[in-house]
Amino acid sequence: MSDTLFCYCCRTHHPREQMRRFATRRGERWRCLRSIEAARGQPGERDAFGRRQSEINRLAASQTAERMVIPHFRHGPP
Ligand SMILES: [Zn+2]
Repeated sequence: MSDTLFCYCCRTHHPREQMRRFATRRGERWRCLRSIEAARGQPGERDAFGRRQSEINRLAASQTAERMVIPHFRHGPP
């Protein structure tokens, strides 16, 4: 169970044998073969990955927005 690596694409851990080092602008990251193949070959698969990633980003953004908005509601209008 310890021989896993963090896949920056799926944001989860996969077994090492499914992982390849992948150069990004921020340096080398580990990506699983499945995500590399998906990005390379099939537009549908890549779109699914992109959609899921943007969904995660959107959720994180809305959660941050909620935390920032709530205190303003408490103060109310002057
Ligand atoms: Zn992965």
